[in-house]
Amino acid sequence: MKRIAVLSSGGDAPGMNAAIRAVVRTAIYHNIKVYGINKGYEGLIKGDVKQLSKSDVANIIHKGGTILKTARSENFKTKQGRKEAFAFMEAFEIDGLVVIGGDGTYTGAMKLSEEHPIKVVGLPGTIDNDIFGTDYTIGFDTAINTAVEAVDKIRDTADSHSRLFFIEVMGRHSGYIALYTGIGSGSSYIFLPEQENSLEEFTELLEKSNRRNKLFNLVIVAEGNTSGGAQELSKLVKEKLGEDIDIRNAVIGHLQRGGSPTAADRILSSRLGYHAVNALIEGQSNVAIGIVDKKVVYTPFAEAINNKKLPDENMITMAQILAL
Ligand code: ATP
Repeated sequence: MKRIAVLSSGGDAPGMNAAIRAVVRTAIYHNIKVYGINKGYEGLIKGDVKQLSKSDVANIIHKGGTILKTARSENFKTKQGRKEAFAFMEAFEIDGLVVIGGDGTYTGAMKLSEEHPIKVVGLPGTIDNDIFGTDYTIGFDTAINTAVEAVDKIRDTADSHSRLFFIEVMGRHSGYIALYTGIGSGSSYIFLPEQENSLEEFTELLEKSNRRNKLFNLVIVAEGNTSGGAQELSKLVKEKLGEDIDIRNAVIGHLQRGGSPTAADRILSSRLGYHAVNALIEGQSNVAIGIVDKKVVYTPFAEAINNKKLPDENMITMAQILAL
């Protein structure tokens, strides 16, 4: 292994910079040249590249986003696009590639390494935490900390006015952010995309709490929840319980993607970046790197893509019990 490249792809996630820094510094330690590819797979096709030195990745560990930028590339989904990407890497004598992204990024990486003689390893970079083969993904911890902080602030106004708030968090297909935000903020109810939601059960709980004078004011809704987002849900509840009920909606939105990564995300990303380079040196390819039960694990891309990682049922039950 003489030259490797690193790119970030898909949605950005806080901690990607820490991972890039770890890849660059570990590679240079082993006398391997590192190229940073701008804008994900699109940059790989266009040859938008810059050699990175140790000092190029100084002062970035605490920064959100990604210094390499990220993009979605339709071209890379085609065989021709991947051929062009490989031709560029061949011209630069790049023999290993580290990609940081989600399922889509893994799919592209798998196809590239199966079609061409190039070693590719992947790091799970997504705030959604829905990638198989790792307990946590890069950016998830920061996203839930941001969301919990936002819910704490909403709690102040919800308490003062005795209002019911529907707070929408990210997660089109995954309830991890909603579940962890709900538990961390002590919310009254959580709507997850993984569950068939019962409005009946929800309104019963709400009315029961009201009768007991129990606070029931913070409801966390994953954006991909089956009955709709915060706005749709609050409309449905008003239709059921009457217009008098004081309901407000808040969508935390893109705030959850940004900001300085938490210490947990910086450490996770550093570990993953370090092990990505070591895996390439060992000759591994077509695998995603993750940490499960504190141990580094290598999951074939196909396995990581084809298995769905769902929030723990026990934690869902616990969240319900703690909210009663
Ligand atoms: P996020 O979880 O943040 O959405 P992601 O990696 O899943 O991240 P995608 O937009 O799905 O984000 O994928 C990123 C890029 O990976 C795409 O723009 C495309 O270039 C490549 N990619 C996705 N799916 C495929 C595929 N089926 N074949 C080849 N490349 C793909």
